[in-house]
Amino acid sequence: MLLTVFSAFSNEQIIEFLKQQVTDGNVFTDPETLKKQSFSSKMTSDESGLALAYIEVKSTRDIQGVMKAARKFHVPVVPQNQFTSTVVGADGVAGSFVLSTKQMNHIKEISRADSLAVVEPGVINGDLDKAAREQGMFYAPDPGSKPISGIGGNVATNAGGMSTVKYGATKDNVLGLKVVLADGREIKVGGRTLKQAFGYNLTQLFIGSEGTLGVVTEVTVKLMPIPIGTPTMGIAFFDDMTKLAEAVAEIRISGVYPTMLEALDNATIEALDKYEGTHYSSNSGAMLIFKVDNSIPEVVDKLKELMNQYGAVNVTVTTDSKEQADLEKLRRDMLPAIFAGQNHIMEDMAMPLSKLATMMDYIHQVGVQKHLKIYVAGHAGDGNVHPTIVWPKEQKEAPQDVVEALQLMFHETLKLGGTISGEHAVGTMKNQWNNEELGEDVDQIQHQIKSLFDPMQLLNPKRKIN
Ligand SMILES: Cc1cc2nc3c(=O)[nH]c(=O)nc-3n(C[C@H](O)[C@H](O)[C@H](O)COP(=O)(O)OP(=O)(O)OC[C@H]3O[C@@H](n4cnc5c(N)ncnc54)[C@H](O)[C@@H]3O)c2cc1C
Repeated sequence: MLLTVFSAFSNEQIIEFLKQQVTDGNVFTDPETLKKQSFSSKMTSDESGLALAYIEVKSTRDIQGVMKAARKFHVPVVPQNQFTSTVVGADGVAGSFVLSTKQMNHIKEISRADSLAVVEPGVINGDLDKAAREQGMFYAPDPGSKPISGIGGNVATNAGGMSTVKYGATKDNVLGLKVVLADGREIKVGGRTLKQAFGYNLTQLFIGSEGTLGVVTEVTVKLMPIPIGTPTMGIAFFDDMTKLAEAVAEIRISGVYPTMLEALDNATIEALDKYEGTHYSSNSGAMLIFKVDNSIPEVVDKLKELMNQYGAVNVTVTTDSKEQADLEKLRRDMLPAIFAGQNHIMEDMAMPLSKLATMMDYIHQVGVQKHLKIYVAGHAGDGNVHPTIVWPKEQKEAPQDVVEALQLMFHETLKLGGTISGEHAVGTMKNQWNNEELGEDVDQIQHQIKSLFDPMQLLNPKRKIN
Protein backbone atom coordinates (compact mmCIF):
# COMPACT_ATOMS: atom_id res chain seq x y z
CA MET A 1 0.00 0.00 0.00
CA LEU A 2 1.30 3.46 -0.87
CA LEU A 3 1.45 5.96 1.98
CA THR A 4 0.23 9.43 1.19
CA VAL A 5 2.06 12.37 2.73
CA PHE A 6 -0.06 15.47 2.96
CA SER A 7 0.44 18.87 4.54
CA ALA A 8 -1.24 19.93 7.74
CA PHE A 9 -1.92 23.38 6.32
CA SER A 10 -2.45 24.71 2.84
CA ASN A 11 -0.56 27.78 1.62
CA GLU A 12 -3.85 29.66 1.69
CA GLN A 13 -4.31 28.86 5.39
CA ILE A 14 -0.75 29.97 6.13
CA ILE A 15 -1.21 33.25 4.27
CA GLU A 16 -4.53 33.89 5.96
CA PHE A 17 -2.99 33.46 9.39
CA LEU A 18 -0.01 35.63 8.38
CA LYS A 19 -2.31 38.43 7.21
CA GLN A 20 -4.11 38.37 10.55
CA GLN A 21 -0.76 38.98 12.31
CA VAL A 22 0.42 41.84 10.09
CA THR A 23 -1.86 44.68 11.11
CA ASP A 24 0.23 47.73 10.16
CA GLY A 25 2.14 46.63 7.06
CA ASN A 26 1.29 44.81 3.86
CA VAL A 27 1.47 41.19 2.76
CA PHE A 28 2.07 40.52 -0.95
CA THR A 29 1.55 37.18 -2.62
CA ASP A 30 1.22 38.13 -6.29
CA PRO A 31 3.74 36.29 -8.50
CA GLU A 32 5.29 39.47 -9.89
CA THR A 33 6.14 40.93 -6.47
CA LEU A 34 7.30 37.57 -5.16
CA LYS A 35 9.68 37.18 -8.10
CA LYS A 36 11.00 40.74 -7.83
CA GLN A 37 11.65 40.47 -4.10
CA SER A 38 12.97 36.89 -4.18
CA PHE A 39 15.59 37.21 -6.90
CA SER A 40 18.17 39.98 -6.95
CA SER A 41 19.84 40.57 -10.29
CA LYS A 42 22.89 38.86 -8.78
CA MET A 43 21.51 35.36 -8.60
CA THR A 44 18.50 33.58 -9.98
CA SER A 45 19.79 30.04 -9.61
CA ASP A 46 19.36 27.34 -6.99
CA GLU A 47 20.83 29.47 -4.23
CA SER A 48 17.66 31.48 -3.97
CA GLY A 49 14.04 30.45 -4.32
CA LEU A 50 10.60 31.90 -4.67
CA ALA A 51 9.13 33.19 -1.41
CA LEU A 52 5.65 32.25 -0.27
CA ALA A 53 4.94 35.82 0.83
CA TYR A 54 6.65 39.18 0.79
CA ILE A 55 5.83 41.36 3.76
CA GLU A 56 6.56 45.05 4.10
CA VAL A 57 6.36 45.48 7.86
CA LYS A 58 5.68 48.86 9.42
CA SER A 59 6.11 48.09 13.11
CA THR A 60 7.75 45.84 15.67
CA ARG A 61 4.30 44.31 16.19
CA ASP A 62 4.23 43.28 12.52
CA ILE A 63 7.65 41.62 12.81
CA GLN A 64 6.53 39.76 15.91
CA GLY A 65 3.44 38.66 13.96
CA VAL A 66 5.52 37.37 11.06
CA MET A 67 7.72 35.44 13.48
CA LYS A 68 4.63 33.98 15.15
CA ALA A 69 3.38 32.69 11.80
CA ALA A 70 6.84 31.42 10.94
CA ARG A 71 7.06 29.44 14.19
CA LYS A 72 3.56 28.04 13.83
CA PHE A 73 4.06 26.78 10.27
CA HIS A 74 7.88 26.29 10.34
CA VAL A 75 8.35 28.78 7.51
CA PRO A 76 11.84 30.30 6.99
CA VAL A 77 12.08 34.10 7.28
CA VAL A 78 14.48 36.17 5.19
CA PRO A 79 14.99 39.68 6.58
CA GLN A 80 15.42 42.16 3.77
CA ASN A 81 15.98 45.90 3.72
CA GLN A 82 16.92 47.79 0.53
CA PHE A 83 18.03 44.57 -1.20
CA THR A 84 21.48 45.76 -2.33
CA SER A 85 23.40 42.81 -0.89
CA THR A 86 26.28 41.76 -3.13
CA VAL A 87 26.53 38.29 -1.57
CA VAL A 88 22.99 36.95 -2.11
CA GLY A 89 22.11 37.65 1.52
CA ALA A 90 18.52 38.85 1.16
CA ASP A 91 17.14 36.85 -1.77
CA GLY A 92 14.15 34.64 -1.13
CA VAL A 93 14.42 31.08 0.08
CA ALA A 94 11.87 28.68 -1.43
CA GLY A 95 8.57 28.88 0.46
CA SER A 96 9.84 31.58 2.82
CA PHE A 97 8.48 34.81 4.21
CA VAL A 98 10.64 37.67 2.90
CA LEU A 99 10.31 40.26 5.66
CA SER A 100 11.24 43.71 4.44
CA THR A 101 11.96 46.47 6.95
CA LYS A 102 12.35 49.15 4.27
CA GLN A 103 9.06 50.85 5.22
CA MET A 104 10.31 51.30 8.78
CA ASN A 105 12.19 54.37 7.66
CA HIS A 106 11.81 57.08 10.28
CA ILE A 107 14.64 59.03 11.80
CA LYS A 108 13.31 59.04 15.36
CA GLU A 109 15.84 61.39 16.90
CA ILE A 110 18.96 63.37 16.15
CA SER A 111 20.63 64.53 19.33
CA ARG A 112 23.43 67.08 19.19
CA ALA A 113 23.77 66.92 22.95
CA ASP A 114 24.50 63.18 22.88
CA SER A 115 26.06 63.11 19.36
CA LEU A 116 23.77 60.33 18.21
CA ALA A 117 20.77 59.43 16.11
CA VAL A 118 18.06 56.86 16.70
CA VAL A 119 16.69 55.43 13.47
CA GLU A 120 14.50 52.70 12.11
CA PRO A 121 16.24 50.08 9.94
CA GLY A 122 14.81 51.24 6.60
CA VAL A 123 16.40 54.71 6.76
CA ILE A 124 18.73 55.17 3.79
CA ASN A 125 22.34 55.74 4.82
CA GLY A 126 22.64 58.93 2.73
CA ASP A 127 19.40 60.35 4.16
CA LEU A 128 20.64 59.91 7.72
CA ASP A 129 23.93 61.58 6.81
CA LYS A 130 22.11 64.49 5.18
CA ALA A 131 19.83 64.98 8.18
CA ALA A 132 22.82 64.90 10.53
CA ARG A 133 24.73 67.44 8.41
CA GLU A 134 21.83 69.86 8.69
CA GLN A 135 22.71 69.90 12.39
CA GLY A 136 26.49 70.20 11.98
CA MET A 137 27.25 66.50 12.33
CA PHE A 138 27.61 63.56 9.99
CA TYR A 139 27.12 59.80 9.89
CA ALA A 140 30.50 58.41 8.97
CA PRO A 141 30.04 54.92 7.41
CA ASP A 142 29.75 55.53 3.65
CA PRO A 143 29.40 52.36 1.58
CA GLY A 144 29.40 52.81 -2.20
CA SER A 145 25.69 52.06 -1.83
CA LYS A 146 25.21 55.07 0.47
CA PRO A 147 22.32 56.50 -1.60
CA ILE A 148 20.51 53.16 -1.90
CA SER A 149 21.26 50.96 1.12
CA GLY A 150 19.58 51.16 4.53
CA ILE A 151 20.95 51.35 8.05
CA GLY A 152 19.36 47.99 9.00
CA GLY A 153 21.15 46.28 6.11
CA ASN A 154 24.36 48.16 6.90
CA VAL A 155 24.17 46.89 10.49
CA ALA A 156 23.37 43.33 9.42
CA THR A 157 26.36 43.25 7.04
CA ASN A 158 28.71 45.48 9.05
CA ALA A 159 29.09 47.66 5.98
CA GLY A 160 32.29 49.60 5.40
CA GLY A 161 33.15 52.28 2.90
CA MET A 162 35.61 54.91 1.87
CA SER A 163 35.83 56.69 5.23
CA THR A 164 36.34 53.47 7.22
CA VAL A 165 40.06 54.22 7.09
CA LYS A 166 39.48 57.05 9.56
CA TYR A 167 36.05 56.54 11.11
CA GLY A 168 35.69 52.76 11.14
CA ALA A 169 33.00 50.47 9.71
CA THR A 170 29.37 50.23 10.86
CA LYS A 171 30.43 48.26 13.94
CA ASP A 172 32.46 51.25 15.15
CA ASN A 173 29.51 53.61 14.79
CA VAL A 174 26.64 51.75 16.42
CA LEU A 175 25.90 52.31 20.10
CA GLY A 176 22.77 50.26 20.55
CA LEU A 177 20.10 48.15 18.86
CA LYS A 178 16.61 46.84 19.30
CA VAL A 179 16.12 43.38 17.83
CA VAL A 180 13.14 41.04 17.50
CA LEU A 181 14.27 37.48 18.16
CA ALA A 182 12.91 34.36 16.50
CA ASP A 183 10.75 33.68 19.57
CA GLY A 184 9.11 37.11 19.22
CA ARG A 185 10.78 38.93 22.11
CA GLU A 186 12.09 42.40 21.31
CA ILE A 187 15.34 43.01 23.16
CA LYS A 188 17.40 46.17 23.59
CA VAL A 189 21.19 45.87 23.56
CA GLY A 190 23.74 48.64 24.06
CA GLY A 191 22.36 52.14 24.52
CA ARG A 192 23.14 55.83 24.23
CA THR A 193 26.51 55.98 25.93
CA LEU A 194 29.82 56.25 24.11
CA LYS A 195 31.31 53.77 26.58
CA GLN A 196 29.64 50.61 27.77
CA ALA A 197 31.21 47.81 29.76
CA PHE A 198 28.21 45.95 31.10
CA GLY A 199 27.13 42.47 30.07
CA TYR A 200 28.25 40.51 27.06
CA ASN A 201 28.65 42.71 24.01
CA LEU A 202 25.54 41.52 22.19
CA THR A 203 25.40 44.69 20.11
CA GLN A 204 28.52 43.59 18.28
CA LEU A 205 27.20 40.04 17.98
CA PHE A 206 24.14 41.26 16.07
CA ILE A 207 26.21 43.59 13.88
CA GLY A 208 27.22 41.56 10.84
CA SER A 209 24.87 38.68 11.76
CA GLU A 210 23.13 39.00 8.37
CA GLY A 211 19.61 38.46 9.64
CA THR A 212 20.42 35.03 11.07
CA LEU A 213 20.02 35.93 14.77
CA GLY A 214 17.20 38.46 14.83
CA VAL A 215 15.46 41.29 13.00
CA VAL A 216 16.84 44.75 13.75
CA THR A 217 14.04 47.20 14.54
CA GLU A 218 15.95 50.24 15.82
CA VAL A 219 19.53 51.45 15.62
CA THR A 220 21.27 54.07 17.76
CA VAL A 221 24.28 55.40 15.86
CA LYS A 222 27.13 57.71 16.71
CA LEU A 223 27.25 61.02 14.88
CA MET A 224 30.52 62.87 14.39
CA PRO A 225 31.00 66.65 14.42
CA ILE A 226 31.99 68.05 11.01
CA PRO A 227 35.72 68.84 11.27
CA ILE A 228 36.79 72.47 11.15
CA GLY A 229 38.54 73.61 7.95
CA THR A 230 38.35 72.81 4.25
CA PRO A 231 38.94 69.20 3.23
CA THR A 232 41.67 68.51 0.70
CA MET A 233 41.38 65.80 -1.87
CA GLY A 234 43.81 64.61 -4.47
CA ILE A 235 45.05 61.96 -6.85
CA ALA A 236 48.44 60.40 -7.43
CA PHE A 237 49.72 57.80 -9.89
CA PHE A 238 52.09 54.94 -9.07
CA ASP A 239 53.92 52.44 -11.27
CA ASP A 240 51.59 49.66 -10.21
CA MET A 241 49.24 48.53 -7.42
CA THR A 242 52.12 46.96 -5.51
CA LYS A 243 53.95 50.30 -5.24
CA LEU A 244 50.69 52.06 -4.39
CA ALA A 245 50.00 49.57 -1.60
CA GLU A 246 53.47 50.14 -0.13
CA ALA A 247 52.83 53.88 -0.06
CA VAL A 248 49.42 53.38 1.56
CA ALA A 249 50.90 51.22 4.34
CA GLU A 250 53.41 54.01 5.06
CA ILE A 251 50.74 56.75 5.03
CA ARG A 252 48.69 54.74 7.54
CA ILE A 253 51.44 54.86 10.15
CA SER A 254 52.59 58.41 9.45
CA GLY A 255 50.27 60.35 11.76
CA VAL A 256 48.27 61.67 8.82
CA TYR A 257 44.70 60.47 9.31
CA PRO A 258 43.22 60.38 5.81
CA THR A 259 39.47 59.92 5.41
CA MET A 260 39.97 58.23 2.08
CA LEU A 261 42.71 56.13 0.49
CA GLU A 262 41.15 54.51 -2.56
CA ALA A 263 43.08 52.47 -5.10
CA LEU A 264 42.19 51.90 -8.76
CA ASP A 265 44.34 49.84 -11.12
CA ASN A 266 44.93 50.71 -14.75
CA ALA A 267 42.23 48.39 -16.10
CA THR A 268 39.68 50.04 -13.81
CA ILE A 269 40.83 53.55 -14.76
CA GLU A 270 40.50 52.67 -18.46
CA ALA A 271 36.94 51.45 -17.87
CA LEU A 272 36.16 54.63 -15.94
CA ASP A 273 37.63 56.85 -18.67
CA LYS A 274 35.34 55.15 -21.17
CA TYR A 275 32.33 55.51 -18.85
CA GLU A 276 32.98 59.10 -17.70
CA GLY A 277 34.82 60.59 -20.67
CA THR A 278 37.87 61.33 -18.51
CA HIS A 279 41.53 60.78 -19.47
CA TYR A 280 43.18 59.43 -16.34
CA SER A 281 44.48 56.20 -17.89
CA SER A 282 47.10 58.07 -19.95
CA ASN A 283 49.00 58.38 -16.64
CA SER A 284 49.34 54.57 -16.64
CA GLY A 285 49.96 52.49 -13.53
CA ALA A 286 47.69 52.75 -10.53
CA MET A 287 45.72 55.67 -9.18
CA LEU A 288 45.31 56.65 -5.54
CA ILE A 289 42.46 58.95 -4.56
CA PHE A 290 43.07 60.50 -1.15
CA LYS A 291 41.26 62.91 1.13
CA VAL A 292 41.97 64.56 4.44
CA ASP A 293 39.20 66.38 6.26
CA ASN A 294 41.46 68.23 8.71
CA SER A 295 43.79 69.57 6.06
CA ILE A 296 46.34 71.82 7.69
CA PRO A 297 49.30 72.44 5.31
CA GLU A 298 51.71 70.16 7.26
CA VAL A 299 49.37 67.20 6.73
CA VAL A 300 49.11 67.73 2.97
CA ASP A 301 52.88 68.26 2.68
CA LYS A 302 53.53 65.05 4.62
CA LEU A 303 51.19 63.12 2.33
CA LYS A 304 52.97 64.40 -0.78
CA GLU A 305 56.37 63.63 0.71
CA LEU A 306 55.39 60.04 1.49
CA MET A 307 53.86 59.45 -1.92
CA ASN A 308 56.96 60.85 -3.63
CA GLN A 309 59.08 58.35 -1.72
CA TYR A 310 57.17 55.59 -3.49
CA GLY A 311 57.53 57.15 -6.92
CA ALA A 312 54.17 58.91 -7.18
CA VAL A 313 53.78 61.11 -10.26
CA ASN A 314 51.22 63.70 -11.35
CA VAL A 315 50.14 64.35 -7.80
CA THR A 316 47.27 66.85 -7.86
CA VAL A 317 45.35 68.26 -4.90
CA THR A 318 42.20 70.34 -4.74
CA THR A 319 40.14 72.12 -2.12
CA ASP A 320 37.36 72.88 -4.60
CA SER A 321 34.18 71.14 -3.47
CA LYS A 322 32.91 70.52 -7.03
CA GLU A 323 36.20 68.88 -8.07
CA GLN A 324 36.12 66.79 -4.91
CA ALA A 325 32.57 65.67 -5.62
CA ASP A 326 33.66 64.69 -9.17
CA LEU A 327 36.50 62.57 -7.79
CA GLU A 328 34.18 60.86 -5.32
CA LYS A 329 31.74 60.20 -8.14
CA LEU A 330 34.55 58.73 -10.22
CA ARG A 331 35.29 56.26 -7.44
CA ARG A 332 31.62 55.43 -6.88
CA ASP A 333 31.05 54.87 -10.62
CA MET A 334 33.70 52.18 -10.67
CA LEU A 335 31.18 49.31 -10.54
CA PRO A 336 28.89 50.32 -13.41
CA ALA A 337 31.96 51.29 -15.43
CA ILE A 338 33.48 47.83 -15.06
CA PHE A 339 30.33 45.73 -15.24
CA ALA A 340 28.92 47.51 -18.33
CA GLY A 341 26.11 44.98 -18.69
CA GLN A 342 28.35 41.92 -18.33
CA ASN A 343 28.24 39.14 -15.75
CA HIS A 344 30.66 39.75 -12.95
CA ILE A 345 32.05 38.69 -9.61
CA MET A 346 33.44 41.39 -7.35
CA GLU A 347 35.44 40.07 -4.45
CA ASP A 348 36.13 41.66 -1.12
CA MET A 349 39.25 40.49 0.68
CA ALA A 350 40.86 42.48 3.50
CA MET A 351 44.54 42.05 4.26
CA PRO A 352 46.75 43.03 7.16
CA LEU A 353 48.23 46.31 5.87
CA SER A 354 51.72 44.86 5.69
CA LYS A 355 50.46 42.17 3.28
CA LEU A 356 48.46 44.39 0.94
CA ALA A 357 51.33 44.89 -1.53
CA THR A 358 52.04 41.12 -1.59
CA MET A 359 48.38 40.46 -2.32
CA MET A 360 48.23 43.06 -5.10
CA ASP A 361 51.22 41.38 -6.70
CA TYR A 362 49.63 37.94 -6.30
CA ILE A 363 46.36 39.04 -7.93
CA HIS A 364 48.35 40.32 -10.90
CA GLN A 365 50.11 36.95 -11.20
CA VAL A 366 46.80 35.07 -11.06
CA GLY A 367 45.48 37.21 -13.91
CA VAL A 368 48.54 36.37 -16.02
CA GLN A 369 48.43 32.66 -15.13
CA LYS A 370 44.70 32.31 -15.93
CA HIS A 371 44.74 34.71 -18.90
CA LEU A 372 42.08 36.83 -17.21
CA LYS A 373 41.62 40.57 -17.05
CA ILE A 374 41.17 41.24 -13.34
CA TYR A 375 40.03 44.75 -12.44
CA VAL A 376 41.47 45.65 -9.05
CA ALA A 377 40.27 48.46 -6.84
CA GLY A 378 39.56 48.88 -3.20
CA HIS A 379 39.61 50.74 0.04
CA ALA A 380 43.39 50.42 0.17
CA GLY A 381 43.69 52.28 3.47
CA ASP A 382 41.87 49.39 5.16
CA GLY A 383 43.82 46.73 3.29
CA ASN A 384 40.49 46.02 1.55
CA VAL A 385 40.82 44.89 -2.05
CA HIS A 386 37.99 44.32 -4.56
CA PRO A 387 39.21 42.28 -7.54
CA THR A 388 36.47 42.02 -10.18
CA ILE A 389 36.25 39.59 -13.06
CA VAL A 390 33.68 39.92 -15.84
CA TRP A 391 32.43 37.53 -18.52
CA PRO A 392 29.84 37.75 -21.30
CA LYS A 393 26.19 38.17 -20.37
CA GLU A 394 25.11 35.15 -22.47
CA GLN A 395 27.25 32.80 -20.35
CA LYS A 396 25.22 32.27 -17.17
CA GLU A 397 27.68 30.33 -15.02
CA ALA A 398 31.10 31.73 -14.18
CA PRO A 399 33.80 30.21 -16.45
CA GLN A 400 36.04 27.61 -14.80
CA ASP A 401 39.12 29.86 -15.04
CA VAL A 402 37.27 32.58 -13.13
CA VAL A 403 36.31 30.14 -10.36
CA GLU A 404 39.87 28.83 -10.13
CA ALA A 405 41.27 32.38 -10.02
CA LEU A 406 38.94 33.23 -7.12
CA GLN A 407 39.88 30.07 -5.25
CA LEU A 408 43.57 30.87 -5.65
CA MET A 409 43.02 34.42 -4.36
CA PHE A 410 40.95 33.24 -1.39
CA HIS A 411 43.54 30.66 -0.35
CA GLU A 412 46.35 33.20 -0.62
CA THR A 413 44.32 35.74 1.40
CA LEU A 414 43.89 33.27 4.25
CA LYS A 415 47.53 32.18 4.02
CA LEU A 416 48.61 35.81 4.44
CA GLY A 417 46.35 36.30 7.48
CA GLY A 418 43.56 38.17 5.69
CA THR A 419 39.81 37.62 5.50
CA ILE A 420 37.77 36.79 2.42
CA SER A 421 35.05 39.22 3.50
CA GLY A 422 36.14 42.71 4.46
CA GLU A 423 32.75 44.43 4.23
CA HIS A 424 30.24 42.73 1.94
CA ALA A 425 29.57 39.86 4.37
CA VAL A 426 29.06 36.18 3.61
CA GLY A 427 25.49 35.54 2.39
CA THR A 428 25.23 32.58 0.06
CA MET A 429 28.38 33.43 -1.83
CA LYS A 430 30.99 32.54 0.78
CA ASN A 431 29.35 30.38 3.43
CA GLN A 432 31.17 27.32 2.05
CA TRP A 433 34.40 28.89 3.35
CA ASN A 434 33.44 29.06 7.04
CA ASN A 435 35.56 26.14 8.11
CA GLU A 436 38.50 27.29 6.02
CA GLU A 437 38.49 30.86 7.35
CA LEU A 438 37.31 30.31 10.92
CA GLY A 439 38.61 26.85 11.76
CA GLU A 440 36.55 23.96 13.10
CA ASP A 441 36.07 25.17 16.68
CA VAL A 442 34.78 28.63 15.80
CA ASP A 443 32.68 27.19 12.98
CA GLN A 444 30.93 24.98 15.54
CA ILE A 445 30.57 27.76 18.13
CA GLN A 446 28.83 29.88 15.48
CA HIS A 447 26.23 27.13 15.10
CA GLN A 448 25.79 26.91 18.87
CA ILE A 449 25.18 30.66 19.03
CA LYS A 450 22.70 30.41 16.17
CA SER A 451 20.81 27.63 17.99
CA LEU A 452 20.63 29.71 21.17
CA PHE A 453 18.96 32.62 19.38
CA ASP A 454 17.04 30.69 16.76
CA PRO A 455 16.53 27.06 17.84
CA MET A 456 14.01 26.42 15.06
CA GLN A 457 16.52 27.67 12.45
CA LEU A 458 13.95 30.00 10.96
CA LEU A 459 15.99 33.12 10.29
CA ASN A 460 17.81 33.44 6.98
CA PRO A 461 18.69 29.75 6.72
CA LYS A 462 21.50 28.53 4.43
CA ARG A 463 23.18 31.92 4.73
CA LYS A 464 26.29 33.09 6.56
CA ILE A 465 27.07 30.08 8.74
CA ASN A 466 25.61 27.14 6.82
C1 LIG B 1 26.60 49.71 -6.06
C2 LIG B 1 26.87 49.03 -4.74
C3 LIG B 1 27.96 49.44 -3.99
C4 LIG B 1 28.21 48.83 -2.74
N1 LIG B 1 29.26 49.29 -2.01
C5 LIG B 1 29.47 48.77 -0.78
C6 LIG B 1 30.54 49.25 0.02
O1 LIG B 1 31.30 50.15 -0.36
N2 LIG B 1 30.70 48.71 1.25
C7 LIG B 1 29.87 47.73 1.71
O2 LIG B 1 30.05 47.29 2.84
N3 LIG B 1 28.88 47.24 0.95
C8 LIG B 1 28.64 47.73 -0.27
N4 LIG B 1 27.63 47.24 -1.04
C9 LIG B 1 26.81 46.10 -0.55
C10 LIG B 1 25.48 46.47 0.16
O3 LIG B 1 25.01 47.72 -0.23
C11 LIG B 1 25.65 46.41 1.68
O4 LIG B 1 25.86 45.09 2.08
C12 LIG B 1 24.47 47.02 2.46
O5 LIG B 1 24.83 47.08 3.83
C13 LIG B 1 23.17 46.24 2.34
O6 LIG B 1 22.11 47.05 2.84
P1 LIG B 1 20.59 46.83 2.40
O7 LIG B 1 19.78 47.81 3.15
O8 LIG B 1 20.46 46.85 0.93
O9 LIG B 1 20.33 45.37 2.94
P2 LIG B 1 19.83 44.05 2.17
O10 LIG B 1 20.64 43.84 0.95
O11 LIG B 1 18.36 44.09 2.00
O12 LIG B 1 20.20 42.94 3.25
C14 LIG B 1 21.55 42.65 3.55
C15 LIG B 1 21.63 41.64 4.70
O13 LIG B 1 21.08 42.19 5.88
C16 LIG B 1 20.00 41.40 6.38
N5 LIG B 1 18.99 42.35 6.86
C17 LIG B 1 18.37 43.32 6.15
N6 LIG B 1 17.55 44.03 6.96
C18 LIG B 1 17.65 43.50 8.19
C19 LIG B 1 17.05 43.79 9.46
N7 LIG B 1 16.18 44.78 9.62
N8 LIG B 1 17.40 43.02 10.51
C20 LIG B 1 18.28 42.00 10.38
N9 LIG B 1 18.88 41.68 9.21
C21 LIG B 1 18.57 42.43 8.14
C22 LIG B 1 19.55 40.58 5.18
O14 LIG B 1 18.95 39.36 5.60
C23 LIG B 1 20.85 40.36 4.45
O15 LIG B 1 21.56 39.30 5.03
C24 LIG B 1 27.37 47.79 -2.29
C25 LIG B 1 26.29 47.38 -3.07
C26 LIG B 1 26.03 47.98 -4.28
C27 LIG B 1 24.85 47.52 -5.09
